Amino acid sequence: MGFVKKSANKTPIVDTVFAIVAKAKEAKLTYGDENVVDATIGSLYGEDGKIVAYKTIFDSFDEIPSARKAGYAAGFQGNPDYRKLCKEWTLGKGNVDLECSVIATPGGTGAVSLTMTEFLEVGETVIIPNIAWGSYAIMAQDKQLNVARYEMFDGDHLNLNSIKEQVNALKGKQNRIVIVVNDPCHNPTGYTMTNNEWEELIEFLNEVGKTTPCIILNDIAYIDYAYDVAHSRDYMKVFEKMSENVMVVIAMSCSKTCTSYGMRCGAAVICAHSKEDVREAEIVFEKSARALWSNINNAAMINFVNVIENHEDEFNNEKDYYIDLLKQRSDIFIKEADECGLEYYPFKEGFFVTIKIEDNALKAKYHEVLMENHIYTVQVNQGIRVATCSLPVNKAKGLAKRMKEILDTMK
Ligand code: PLP
Repeated sequence: MGFVKKSANKTPIVDTVFAIVAKAKEAKLTYGDENVVDATIGSLYGEDGKIVAYKTIFDSFDEIPSARKAGYAAGFQGNPDYRKLCKEWTLGKGNVDLECSVIATPGGTGAVSLTMTEFLEVGETVIIPNIAWGSYAIMAQDKQLNVARYEMFDGDHLNLNSIKEQVNALKGKQNRIVIVVNDPCHNPTGYTMTNNEWEELIEFLNEVGKTTPCIILNDIAYIDYAYDVAHSRDYMKVFEKMSENVMVVIAMSCSKTCTSYGMRCGAAVICAHSKEDVREAEIVFEKSARALWSNINNAAMINFVNVIENHEDEFNNEKDYYIDLLKQRSDIFIKEADECGLEYYPFKEGFFVTIKIEDNALKAKYHEVLMENHIYTVQVNQGIRVATCSLPVNKAKGLAKRMKEILDTMK
């Protein structure tokens, strides 16, 4: 009989990342750290093989009095100063002329989840990339939504035609369209859209909006690791060109930005032309927040405000060092991949590079054989993710060539 409701999906989550992370750990104990390449972990790790925890962030955190850490946040929407800061931080000092509201969320996850739930009815379809962070599909399923996937790439650029096809297929068939755009620094390929691609997307959605309102869910979890971080928000200016029938919800996360994944702090930044539309979304997001998690980690919100108000330069300097380190690691891998002809998806910046293997059966086999050779990576749809965010420079060297040689033995 069972106790769980009939409609629930009772298949356990297959966490492809954590299972392989554990295998890599075991291999390091058995064969020695120097003999194993562990490119599994999706958090920022230093050259010493340890997780990075920014000094600016955690020194500030330690200074917060216990009584403030103990207390609830000021409201279900989040603390007012945190909400104000999130708007400025996300939009680049508020440089986007739209109506906006911010709801604090537990990481970017909370913002993605709210957006899927509050705009789509049960049984409707959310559009996500074909190569994507696995949680989008899990969240959709949990909300009893269907998933349609657009092809990420056409050659070396975004496949806008595929996006158009998926959107057109839903146009007029459901009340609203929600499309997930994980940009810049797409997980797991490291692609970043050009301003022209953003322009074309908005232009297209404005047309669709004439019959079916559209919501862009712009997931910016990795934005603060864009190589030209000072201009990483420039593309958001294009949101001003959205029509009255298009809205953007930007899922902002402190997890990567502050190396504080476990503190569960982020925000949904809701932007549109009409004050009423933004207010309506704010109301339902706030209620849903109240129902699901009540309020957000007070200390994490206080801390982000304190760091940015009082130690912003120090924090940026600390983070810049790691942006440069990520670039060094990725540059080595990409250069060597180019030299030996190991194909990867269009990469510009970010935490990961993804080897292109469109045949999923071959990919699964290849993944196994890589492990037999003590190279640990993560499988994604049509690809093998190499987490340069946790791969030291010395392990990045020579890796592409080894991976290519192993792949060649399988063809
Ligand atoms: N979006 C993407 C693409 C991610 O990879 C992640 C985390 O891995 C998130 C959002 C959300 O992370 P968090 O909920 O910790 O902010």
